Amino acid sequence: MKPVKFVMINPTSPFWRVQEGERPRQSRFFRFSLLPSLCVAASMPPYVESTIIDEDVRPVDFDIDADLVGITFMTHNAPRAYEIADTFRRKKGVPVIVGGYHPTFMPEEAARHADAVCIGDAEDVVPRMMRDFAEGRLQQFYRSELTCLAGLPVPDRSLIRRKDYVPADALQATRGCHQRCGFCSVAAFHQSRFRTRPVHEVVDEMRGLRKRLLFIDDNIIGDREYAKELFTALIPLRKNWYSQCDISLARDEELLGLAARSGCRGLFVGFETLSQQGLTRWKKDSNMTADYLASVAKLHDAGISICAGFVFGGDDDTPDVFERTLDFLLEANIEALQTTRMTPFPGTPLFEELDAQGRIFDKYWGHYDFNHVVFQPKHMSAETLDNGVGWVGKQFYSRRNVSRRIWKSLRYLSPAVALGGVLPLNLGYRVRKAKDGEFQRGEIFSTPSVPLQRPHPGNTMPSAERNAYAER
Ligand code: SF4
Repeated sequence: MKPVKFVMINPTSPFWRVQEGERPRQSRFFRFSLLPSLCVAASMPPYVESTIIDEDVRPVDFDIDADLVGITFMTHNAPRAYEIADTFRRKKGVPVIVGGYHPTFMPEEAARHADAVCIGDAEDVVPRMMRDFAEGRLQQFYRSELTCLAGLPVPDRSLIRRKDYVPADALQATRGCHQRCGFCSVAAFHQSRFRTRPVHEVVDEMRGLRKRLLFIDDNIIGDREYAKELFTALIPLRKNWYSQCDISLARDEELLGLAARSGCRGLFVGFETLSQQGLTRWKKDSNMTADYLASVAKLHDAGISICAGFVFGGDDDTPDVFERTLDFLLEANIEALQTTRMTPFPGTPLFEELDAQGRIFDKYWGHYDFNHVVFQPKHMSAETLDNGVGWVGKQFYSRRNVSRRIWKSLRYLSPAVALGGVLPLNLGYRVRKAKDGEFQRGEIFSTPSVPLQRPHPGNTMPSAERNAYAER
């Protein structure tokens, strides 16, 4: 078969896109080793030579020697992905294939900008795409039929410069989640399936990796028995690992003990809201708000740091939600926080619901980045929601609160985790929130009990990009 030069591009938003000669604009703690692109490259037939371009660290060279371009993207990067695809196809005559969450949910839209669309997982699709491309009969749509994760090829991590990414090697043991949270793209993408790799394959892959690891799993405890088997097998490797899971881990002492012994040092946990009614509305069955404080304490006692995910703007949220949530976060000494404005991603039940109610007023995908309000909240104005989220972030990441929580966390975390992980992550969030306008919006929301209704200065999404997209 004739050699194929395949260039894979990860588009990014204008905030974080580097220009020629520029250093990356945000902390490498927010860049997770491009595992999906590495997995795609590993699945290629031998006649394909893959190159990866990540716009977070390197500008796209539109004159690059490429036979075929591949772009993977989520909803908020769709406008940029389409811009890149259109440029390669129309101006350079290079065919483009696309994949990822957004093309899977909006294949017809993606097909207007691409020669072929991968729907679902890529590993079983890209070899078919490559064969068809080489034979000159590329189809418009390819649907994944990957049901089993056994035997997946091991990613070639030399395709990226490790120093550009979080100082931990990324890998995956499981995919998807059994739960069906209404706002969650993961549940929609994987159709609430939970798939696992054989434990021995995960362990074999880990042996060649660094001491610090990041499991890019959606919910690593999605199958308790599998998680116990995996954590038990990890203990002799003496690695430190980070991942994400639901809070029910704290209610299973055996599993929590195994996680800690196997080297778990930090977890992203979706608390989502302090409203039990809100959780029920979203079908987030794993969470019980009454247990939140006790659950956090159990994870801390096990030496595990927590990055909490909170979603604001649900139908049970009133303007006092910001102050109440901040109180909880500070009292629990949560180590890091990811705030999101509720976002109805296409493909999710939440999108269907809000769209049917006529409450989505903004369908410019570039705004589906958790940093914009794109729908009408029920009990507050869109501005109050926007500024209130900014206020929580500004308070949580104030210098005083960062110092306090690091100091307190030294009581239950190792200094390496508190000072080498939690502190840089907090500082990274501070820089990020200052750059993307979050702190400025937090200033407008100066009296949380009586929110002001002034329009916020907005973030600096370039209008040129927005207009260019709207014209298509
Ligand atoms: S538990 Fe987490 S990953 Fe699973 S469906 Fe809910 S939000 Fe998504």
